[in-house]
Amino acid sequence: MTEGTKSHYEVIVIGAGVAGIYQIKRLVDLGVDAVVLDAAADLGGTWYWNRYPGARFDSESYTYGYSFSKELLDEWHWKEKFSGQPENLRYLNYVAEKFDLRRHMRFNCKVEAARFDEAQDLWRLKLDDGRDLSCRFVIMAVGLLSTPTLPRFSGMDSFKGRSFHTYYWPHEPVDMVGKKVAVIGTGATGIQVIGEIADKVGELTVFQRRPNWSAPLNNSPISEKQMAEIRSRYDEIFATCARTPGGFEHEPDRRGFHEVTRQERLALWDRLYDEPGFGIWLSNFREIFTDEVANAEFSAYIADRIRRRVKDPVTAEKLIPKDHGFGVQRVPLETRYFEAYNRSNVHLVDISETPIKRITETGLRTTARDHDFDIIVYATGFDAITGAFDRMDIRGRGGRRLREKWAEGPRTYLGLQIEGFPNLFTLVGPHNAATFCNIPRCIEQNVDWVTALIAYMRDRGHTRVEPTPEAERDWLAHVHDTGRRMLFTQVDSWMMGINSNVAGKDRRTFIVYAGGAPKYREKCEEAAAGGYVGFTFR
Ligand SMILES: Cc1cc2nc3c(=O)[nH]c(=O)nc-3n(C[C@H](O)[C@H](O)[C@H](O)COP(=O)(O)OP(=O)(O)OC[C@H]3O[C@@H](n4cnc5c(N)ncnc54)[C@H](O)[C@@H]3O)c2cc1C
Repeated sequence: MTEGTKSHYEVIVIGAGVAGIYQIKRLVDLGVDAVVLDAAADLGGTWYWNRYPGARFDSESYTYGYSFSKELLDEWHWKEKFSGQPENLRYLNYVAEKFDLRRHMRFNCKVEAARFDEAQDLWRLKLDDGRDLSCRFVIMAVGLLSTPTLPRFSGMDSFKGRSFHTYYWPHEPVDMVGKKVAVIGTGATGIQVIGEIADKVGELTVFQRRPNWSAPLNNSPISEKQMAEIRSRYDEIFATCARTPGGFEHEPDRRGFHEVTRQERLALWDRLYDEPGFGIWLSNFREIFTDEVANAEFSAYIADRIRRRVKDPVTAEKLIPKDHGFGVQRVPLETRYFEAYNRSNVHLVDISETPIKRITETGLRTTARDHDFDIIVYATGFDAITGAFDRMDIRGRGGRRLREKWAEGPRTYLGLQIEGFPNLFTLVGPHNAATFCNIPRCIEQNVDWVTALIAYMRDRGHTRVEPTPEAERDWLAHVHDTGRRMLFTQVDSWMMGINSNVAGKDRRTFIVYAGGAPKYREKCEEAAAGGYVGFTFR
């Protein structure tokens, strides 16, 4: 049978992003008959799709790359501290070529449905072109930010200019010189795109519903000499990432917020604000995440920084969040974002005051007036974490639908398996530390753990694995426990399952794991060491 007509595999991995690429490498090394399917025309996941100007890491590049191969670490030169999308995609292609993984990947293969065949212990998949495939194990590597969402404005199809969601930014360059451009949304993506295009377009109008806290990325190039120094420290870098809650190089300040003077706090914040990356968030006092007084004082500090950077005081106030404190949502990092609003060609429209009524043929209409545009950019984010699962018709034992099981919020064991859905694994899934992490650091842990379990079953001739209802119930309780003290559980955000552009996602649901990657890893290792405690095998 040729690869093209082959319809059964031991393992099917869905998604060819960072997770799927590493997963297939591990399976191939193990000699497992496996394939990766992706709806995209090529590999890369996040870094294949998001080609908008300004798309880049907010993880330090050298902490984001895979750690599994010393040879790869020695060969690859990250050219910027926070590398951009084109380079990130080149990197993933380099990895796939180096380890000859492409031949195990099939593209333009969107999985529409997956049904568990209880008699055979097999998953039966249906692709959008009508093809049927089967496998013993399905590994969902479908991504946490891979289901873009558009706002629900009327008239969106009537616009005669060009419009796109940032996720679907065209592959060929978009000429924006002299053009009138609208950006709708000021989340992580909007903040990146606005900072990048403000000085390249004719007129830029930003439509903001709700501001987000943001702090400088402070990016810089990495010279050959600096890269050599980074290479010599890789063991140390990954060891640091492994012991920090979020898998980053940044370690929290261990001094108590209330134990130091205000001068000492300001000295720390002044230093962190000028440093690259997430230090301002993750090397801060730990109370920022849990103590309202500490959070309010720090938020006031950042608000002041914004006022110093934005010349027009009215605009500055509009850019300062008033409904939540700094760091209780994933913090977007910015480059020249606030300075963009000092330009005479950039305009901010507060759509909480004058909502968008509809998209028109020539632009859009708010409750105040009509605006004409050549290009409309929807920087409106994603149906996060569970979105890609919800888009598939996944049915487990007894024909039960995953969407129904998760109707009141996800239920999993270790964020990796689901009771009633045997032999199905969820990399970077809900209630898994990877969703709150420097993601590849957690992806490697997820993949290694799943691969070890598959090897364990193969050695023993098991054909089915599934968590017990008790294990799932206890995990849910543990997940909720880890979030109890965190301020982020008290605000609406994608980390709490809220998305006003998706029907039914208007209720706070705990979908991440807030116990930190080290604790999570410990729980996974404990389960494995005890002979996969909490799982049943057949
Ligand atoms: C602009 C942007 C910047 C980011 N920056 C960082 C950062 O600096 N640090 C960090 O840690 N994280 C960052 N992230 C998060 C990023 O998503 C992860 O780091 C990582 O790339 C996730 O990899 P993945 O393989 O899990 O998923 P993805 O890369 O999202 O890949 C999932 C793949 O699954 C495919 N797929 C989904 N459903 C189906 C289906 N039904 N059938 C077939 N294929 C399907 C998709 O087409 C996609 O290619 C960023 C995300 C974005 C959007």
